[in-house]
Amino acid sequence: MPRIEISLSQIRDNAEILSELYGQKGISLMGVSKAVLGEPSIAEAMIQGGVKFIADSRIENIQRMKTAGISTKFVLLRTPLSQAEAVVKNVDISLNTEIKTLEELSYYAKAYHKNHQVIIMVELGDLREGVLPGDLSQFMRKTLALSHIEVVGIGCNLACYGGIKPDEKNMSKLSKLVDTLEKEFTIKLEIISGGNSANYEWYKSTPDVSNINNLRLGESILLGCETLSRKAIPGLHTRAFQLFAEVIESKIKPSLPFGEICQDAFGNVPSFQDRGIRRRVILALGRQDVLVSGLKSNHKLEILGSSSDHIILDSQNHNLQVGDEVNFNLDYGSLLAAMTSPFIKKEFVNCYSHVVG
Ligand SMILES: *Cc1c(COP(=O)(O)O)cnc(C)c1O
Repeated sequence: MPRIEISLSQIRDNAEILSELYGQKGISLMGVSKAVLGEPSIAEAMIQGGVKFIADSRIENIQRMKTAGISTKFVLLRTPLSQAEAVVKNVDISLNTEIKTLEELSYYAKAYHKNHQVIIMVELGDLREGVLPGDLSQFMRKTLALSHIEVVGIGCNLACYGGIKPDEKNMSKLSKLVDTLEKEFTIKLEIISGGNSANYEWYKSTPDVSNINNLRLGESILLGCETLSRKAIPGLHTRAFQLFAEVIESKIKPSLPFGEICQDAFGNVPSFQDRGIRRRVILALGRQDVLVSGLKSNHKLEILGSSSDHIILDSQNHNLQVGDEVNFNLDYGSLLAAMTSPFIKKEFVNCYSHVVG
């Protein structure tokens, strides 16, 4: 069975280094657990590293962590309207952009005799979630009128859908909106959540973070990189997740398929380069388990192609044999898929490692 080895100590180290780095300018962190399906031991490693909240996009993942006894403030990144009751019951803070959803949340919060805390997301150009700045004042007025909703902050999300870079301009826009809202409604907004792992460069270069005092980090903590150009962040571990798969066939074969070429299993008509006769191996791992394009061999093994259940490698210079194991580093998309695949075993290695990068 393919397996993913997860170094909890490296994840904790990453969370700790990032908490210290961002903490220097007063920015607290939410550790984002959605890519690992809210795996409780990973959330715990993030908390030990110093994140102040655990944030996830799925209520089911938050329920999983709570059931496992993880104790922290939980934030829901994506509000599902029809799950408003479960949100009120399980989540401390949710991110919101629709009055209809806020009304539902207020309704259930009242029923459970509590206040539900929310962060209102503002659209600053990436065109995923967010209230347009011009609509924000009216939106805030309606939200503040809801009896069991407490607005604890505002936030924005960039570099996800539109690939828009967090910069001085959009970050100071968010900061200014805080001042405007606080003045207009005589409120205090506690959490100003400026973004995600894509905010690293902005943070390093900005002379002043102004009102921004929170970031929501998934990929930086898990994979040790920023996400504008996927550069490693100095001092962070970039190999906390390693995927292992077994060689199930190893043979010397031609590199050019023979017969008439039609569509492959995924509807593409493939083309091949003739490299002569080479050793090829097949791994028991496929597109149902991972995003194959996001795998990176630590031994410079070349991936020739893949189908649902198989990955074909060029093994000319490696002489891999049946039963051997091959391991890969994963990118975010591959990690997301691998953690979601029921066919991949998750194994935790706790031993502390000083090897970085
Ligand atoms: C996924 C997500 C994040 C975390 O993004 P990373 O790039 O993994 O840091 C932050 N905020 C929201 C709203 C998200 O959906």
